[in-house]
Amino acid sequence: MKFLGKPRSQTAAFLPLCLFFLKSLCPGHSHLYGNRYAGDKVIRFIPNTEEEAFVLKKICHQLKVDLWQPGGVSQISQGTVTDVHVSHNGSRTLLTFLEEANIQYKILIEDLQKVLEKGSSLPAWRSRRSLSGYNYEVYHSLEEIQNWMHHLNKTHSGLIHMFSIGKSYEGRSLYILKLGRRSRSYKRAVWMDCGIHAREWIGPAFCQWFVKEALLTYRSDPTMRKMLNHLYFYIMPVFNVDGYHFSWTNDRFWRKTRSRNARFRCRGVDANRNWRVKWCDEGASMHPCDDTYCGPFPESEPEVKAVANFLRKHRKHITAYLSFHAYAQMLLYPYSYKYATIPNFSCVESAAYKAVNALRSVHGVQYRYGPASSTLYVSSGSSMDWAYKNGIPYTFAFELRDTGHFGFLLPETLIKPTCMETMLAVKNITMHLLKKCP
Ligand SMILES: [Zn+2]
Repeated sequence: MKFLGKPRSQTAAFLPLCLFFLKSLCPGHSHLYGNRYAGDKVIRFIPNTEEEAFVLKKICHQLKVDLWQPGGVSQISQGTVTDVHVSHNGSRTLLTFLEEANIQYKILIEDLQKVLEKGSSLPAWRSRRSLSGYNYEVYHSLEEIQNWMHHLNKTHSGLIHMFSIGKSYEGRSLYILKLGRRSRSYKRAVWMDCGIHAREWIGPAFCQWFVKEALLTYRSDPTMRKMLNHLYFYIMPVFNVDGYHFSWTNDRFWRKTRSRNARFRCRGVDANRNWRVKWCDEGASMHPCDDTYCGPFPESEPEVKAVANFLRKHRKHITAYLSFHAYAQMLLYPYSYKYATIPNFSCVESAAYKAVNALRSVHGVQYRYGPASSTLYVSSGSSMDWAYKNGIPYTFAFELRDTGHFGFLLPETLIKPTCMETMLAVKNITMHLLKKCP
């Protein structure tokens, strides 16, 4: 469970506001999220045997840990690198067990609240929200991102067209930016989505960065010009709008959507397990309280259904599907749900190989790449597999920085380097597909 059971105080009511202004302006104590993560730890361990994995799964369940990796508790097995966010009290139990059982572990984050508050400087100019000075090196709230989209739609109508493909569970618009030079001739398209999982804030930051770069370099950079002249990009900066909003106001580590369940109090479905492709099989959970809950039926989530409908309608001209997640530093392609080789493996594999090399050339950051099932873990009902099965020949999922040092709390100072290198990878994939993969 995500809720640590602290009573909702007056300070908590001010929280959403406090996130936008200087901490010193906030009433009472100045902690983000009502100080709810004080003393929480993030611990990494690797079970040596299946027996140890079994016991650790049980402990994780009992302590109600927030699993950062792998995706679900069922995926913890011998040799699995496992990162858990555990409460201050729970961490004592877990550490005692790890010590006694002689299992290797590392404390990745000593005090989560401290890292949370260090990572976001919340400087004064955050309240000064003029769009011309939009800062791409900070994380933005949903409201800020949506205002930014409206603004671009008005000021860059030559290259950008904004529209909505539907409404979220809580009634928010699902906005898409269509980017590219308008043309009467037939153009292929690339789909990009960010923020399927709410707590992976670097995703939406990258989608915004991509749009900014496209607009800034369209005239000066021949590659970008070629991309925008020959292709349309459909960009969804925040897929899981309700979850993202919730991760700003209530629970920084929320992952799922925010839909209610008929029989359980736990809310939300994993929007990357809700697609009709081997739905709710291996790597997904049937239990509504789990972070990898697949939902009551495929496309039960309005956000997933809206995107699936859009992709179905436009699949003839959408050539590539790119989805941005965090964290692991990986570039993944199908399949997620089985260990098998895709029919167009050679083209996809060489695109991934070149993209990863291009990415590394910027800051030396190493990405692993390969089929999601064997490179990350097996998961069913994912958007990438679904897009591939539904006729989009080039589908990739990025797991952006880092590899666990900050995890989901990637500091704002790392937005720029992360986005710069990812930008190069995306340009590389896009050009590769344009040139080499018909
Ligand atoms: Zn994710």
